[in-house]
Amino acid sequence: MAAALIPDRPLRIGLTGGIGSGKSTVAAMLAAHGAWVIDTDALARELTAPRGAALAPIAERFGADMVGPDGALDRARMRARVFADPAAKAALEAILHPMIRQLTQARAAAGPPDAVRVFDVPLLVESGRWREQVHRILVVDCRVETQVERVMRRNGWPESQVRAVIAAQASREARRAVADAVILNDGIGLEALQAEVDAVWSRWVSD
Ligand code: ADP
Repeated sequence: MAAALIPDRPLRIGLTGGIGSGKSTVAAMLAAHGAWVIDTDALARELTAPRGAALAPIAERFGADMVGPDGALDRARMRARVFADPAAKAALEAILHPMIRQLTQARAAAGPPDAVRVFDVPLLVESGRWREQVHRILVVDCRVETQVERVMRRNGWPESQVRAVIAAQASREARRAVADAVILNDGIGLEALQAEVDAVWSRWVSD
């Protein structure tokens, strides 16, 4: 599906999936094929790490004590502040989202000119602005039970915490509805996942 606002080449792929779906694993496999991967979550963390560009506007809006002694955003305090306060959440997003967008464009532009761009965006469906920024959307899908198992194991989180994150994300159906291709990463091992990624790559890139 061609998007109107971006040049035809290089190909731009939006990659998304729920937490624990295997999205990062797929991103690494695409990078191994030569894609230039832009991880928007990592950019958001960079902005709020020590000396991150978002800290000054956040401190100005929410108070200097939002920045911890290590010079990074005090994430626990920020989460507590925005948890039950939609206006605070909107204010935080109004600071972060334009900065993330700008940094995303800068990182995309910094890659080798001909490399396929892969935008790894956990909330691609939720944020709604991505469809016109990419030529194709690749969704990594799996059952909620599998997500819960993987994230409990990977992050050491209690089940309730994993389920709360999943509940706040788009549904499997909402993601699949915008997908140009879906990889069902469930009940398969990493080798089979690799084969699925290879198949998408040869369909979209190497023919
Ligand atoms: P996400 O980025 O979607 O949160 P990850 O790619 O980090 O998910 O995958 C979550 C965890 O599950 C990781 O520890 C990863 O190694 C593992 N995993 C993902 N897919 C598979 C698979 N097909 N077989 C075995 N382990 C997998």
